[in-house]
Amino acid sequence: MPSLAAAKLPFAPALRLRLGTRGGVARTKSNTGLIVNVVNEKPSHRAGAALARKALFLVLLTLLTQIGGIAFLATIGVSYVAKISGRLARLAVFLSLYAAATVAAHQVAPLFGRIPLPCFSGNSPLKLQSPLYCVLNRNYVTGDLLRVADALSGHMAGAFPGTVTLALDANFPFLDGFPLLPHLSHSDGRKLDIAFYYRGKAALNGQTRSPIGYFAFEQASAGAPLPCDGRNDLLTFRWNLRFLQPLFADWHLDEERTKAAVQWLSSDGRKMGVEKIFIEPHLAKRLAVDNGIVRFQGCRAARHDDHIHFQVAE
Ligand SMILES: [Zn+2]
Repeated sequence: MPSLAAAKLPFAPALRLRLGTRGGVARTKSNTGLIVNVVNEKPSHRAGAALARKALFLVLLTLLTQIGGIAFLATIGVSYVAKISGRLARLAVFLSLYAAATVAAHQVAPLFGRIPLPCFSGNSPLKLQSPLYCVLNRNYVTGDLLRVADALSGHMAGAFPGTVTLALDANFPFLDGFPLLPHLSHSDGRKLDIAFYYRGKAALNGQTRSPIGYFAFEQASAGAPLPCDGRNDLLTFRWNLRFLQPLFADWHLDEERTKAAVQWLSSDGRKMGVEKIFIEPHLAKRLAVDNGIVRFQGCRAARHDDHIHFQVAE
């Protein structure tokens, strides 16, 4: 049985696995056996690590939800003033402040030109694909875009009774120029992604192959146009996520309805202000929807063979 005495041996282990820190001491395990070292960690190091963790949370929450970072800062302030130190208690404070900020954003954002897509849409043929988009404040659009999305879903439900059009990522509630990652262009309220329509044995409604509507990619057939083939960009939002593909539901793209949606956006939608639609070239060819406003987004932007992106003019 190894012991603390082993740490005093003259040969130091080449590799050590950090086991954790308790009360300012670090415990490590070597690759040659269970050798435990006890090292004093200075309080200033711990304070620095805690500050770095807080900064990381702040950045992640801001990037993911926009107003979550502000709720996090408010939580630090409230916890300090009210002397709240327990983790669970601070989490409860954060969740309360975040929920209050989310409700407040629904009321305030329209004053700045962004309207939330409804989180509870009842019998409307336009729904958010997941409550997550509401929870993360990623469901804001301009009035013009909301009118187009409503009209598109109405058209689809009329042409294909029972059809529900599912909205995915839209925009954050505030600040033009603040991107909704990984969609760099979703920064001004004028952009919306909608899910593809799918079929199992029959047409499916309100369901997508992937749990969040994204990343279940349609694969190109042989000879289809593949402008990004052979590229290996390091800095890119074009993620292929091959390991995820077998996990998604084995449903097929409903070509008829997906094509009808793109055609409506290119005709009636265009008259209402639609200026661009993004889908991958191989899919535009397969659906025969290649036209002036169906565009390719480029090789560093997210793939568009798992959803349709459209945007309205200013
Ligand atoms: Zn988009």
